[in-house]
Amino acid sequence: MSHSGEDGSSPGDQGAPERNDPVRLRAINDRAVAATQHFRGESREGATFEVMCECPALDCLDMVELGSDEFDAARRRPDMYVVTPGHVNPPLHGVAEEHDGYWIATGPKAVTDGHR
Ligand SMILES: [Zn+2]
Repeated sequence: MSHSGEDGSSPGDQGAPERNDPVRLRAINDRAVAATQHFRGESREGATFEVMCECPALDCLDMVELGSDEFDAARRRPDMYVVTPGHVNPPLHGVAEEHDGYWIATGPKAVTDGHR
């Protein structure tokens, strides 16, 4: 008979990251927005998206809402990230634009999927 040996101890330190990776968050948001667009099909005129704040804080669960045009604008450079106003911490190192409800931060260049 098997017996689960849970003793309540924490699963141990496996070198968990101390911060989120904005590049990874960005990729996740990209996929979410692409899926939403696909789902909506036809017009994305005036559509809004809710994406995760792409700041590196592990405990940040903020969602940022922005229009499709604004999202496109925030993606026109691979080193731009959508964050809640004020959420600029390394490796995000600058603010490119300040908008109502969200900022565009600058940071490391995201690796974009070159196959289009
Ligand atoms: Zn944040």
